[in-house]
Amino acid sequence: MNVSKLREKVRNIPDFPVKGIQFKDVTTLFKDSATLKELSDGLFKMYQNKGITKVVGIESRGFIMGPLLADRLHAGFVPIRKPGKLPAPTFEATYDKEYGTDTIQIHRDALDEQDVVLLHDDLLATGGTMVAAVDLIRKFNPRKIYVNFLIELEDLKGRKLFDPDIEIESIIKYNI
Ligand code: AMP
Repeated sequence: MNVSKLREKVRNIPDFPVKGIQFKDVTTLFKDSATLKELSDGLFKMYQNKGITKVVGIESRGFIMGPLLADRLHAGFVPIRKPGKLPAPTFEATYDKEYGTDTIQIHRDALDEQDVVLLHDDLLATGGTMVAAVDLIRKFNPRKIYVNFLIELEDLKGRKLFDPDIEIESIIKYNI
């Protein structure tokens, strides 16, 4: 995977959505067909031998590469969504994020103990979102949990919040 080429495609938007945030816009990464292919191939190579049975994507930017990767891995796709969006009974978790607080939900019948889960989101900032997502996934007691981000803001040290049994990988790392 040509990480420096991928990095060049990420657009930085200063002070979005609030002052002080350097927003990493991944739409510029996805809109170029060659870059999208590079990313898709790279992700597939990272996870093809892990026995992943379900890719779980976090609303909403985890819904772009998540299903694409699930298809390539012959795995199912499960959404984690904001409150009130999932129609059947859910588990939920509330957490702090880089800007504000949020709640996420997953269907209670989305996973089972036989699953090997790959949790995917576009970006690791403080880690609050993904730690809450891991807590939700643990309720199902799956065989293994992998966590993947396209981008990691290393200075925020979100990675430190995760238990050592969780395997975390990110592709493009930033030190701001
Ligand atoms: P956190 O819970 O702090 O790790 O925040 C991660 C979530 O917030 C991800 O779903 C990101 O899409 C979004 N996010 C947080 N900070 C940024 C940023 N600087 N640029 C783009 N997205 C961000």
